[in-house]
Amino acid sequence: MNDSSASPRTMGTPADFQPGTALPGNLGAGSLLFVWRDDKILARNSEPPTLPTFSDVAQLAIDGERHYLGQYQGIDCVALRVNAEAPEPAGWQWRGLRSLFLQIPDPLLALAGRSSQVVEWDRTHRYCGQCGTQTMNKPDERAKQCPACGYVVYPRVSPAMMVLVTRGSELLLARANRFPNATYSALAGFVELGESIEDCIHREVREEVGIEVDSLRYFASQSWPFPHSLMIAFNAEYLSGEARPCDDEIADVQWFTLDALPQLPGPVSISRKLIDATVARLRSQA
Ligand SMILES: [Zn+2]
Repeated sequence: MNDSSASPRTMGTPADFQPGTALPGNLGAGSLLFVWRDDKILARNSEPPTLPTFSDVAQLAIDGERHYLGQYQGIDCVALRVNAEAPEPAGWQWRGLRSLFLQIPDPLLALAGRSSQVVEWDRTHRYCGQCGTQTMNKPDERAKQCPACGYVVYPRVSPAMMVLVTRGSELLLARANRFPNATYSALAGFVELGESIEDCIHREVREEVGIEVDSLRYFASQSWPFPHSLMIAFNAEYLSGEARPCDDEIADVQWFTLDALPQLPGPVSISRKLIDATVARLRSQA
């Protein structure tokens, strides 16, 4: 696999990114801005689309709540949250982040995903959850603090497991009800309080498709900013039981052979990387 799109590092933090939280007093004209209106990001209406610089945003007279992200290749990166009524400037589009998959370079996609989580957290933590007072950004870290009671909140990350179960050279893939089309993928689910990631895998596999698995092997993890998941992917081997849809989330589940795979998820997601890597391993063993 020498195609870089097959790397489990997609959407990973670029190596030449230095995170930070303190907004510089002066932003250079070439600073990168990740401008969000609700869950849509501003991109130039060009082929391929590009993200705005500080000078673009100044020309468009757009402003809002600024959050410093850090430096990428020495260039300041800033998330900007504008209000929900902000118009769409001529020559630009408000776009869903998924629509930029494979359209903008992966390092920028990763930083856009990071920025979306910062602005989503900013938008949903404006008041103290303990006493209702308006919160303030802490100057020294990515956190908000209540000036009345002192309560501190940090950005949320929700860990979720993903597991691709194999039985010999067959793959267990499921079609979720929430998928609009016939895409089949590995099983996935959120970690519950008190669970290890391994506990979560055994419970979710049992609840979703009614089987037992063992031989869990870590594959890779991926930040998945919809809105703030950390997907932690594993392989597992079938142990017992008959696979069938057991809850409302699963529309269908089947064992697939390598020469008759169904429609699979897109190449950016870790689910596709997990499936591709497993298929390659099983083929090499065949
Ligand atoms: Zn409070």
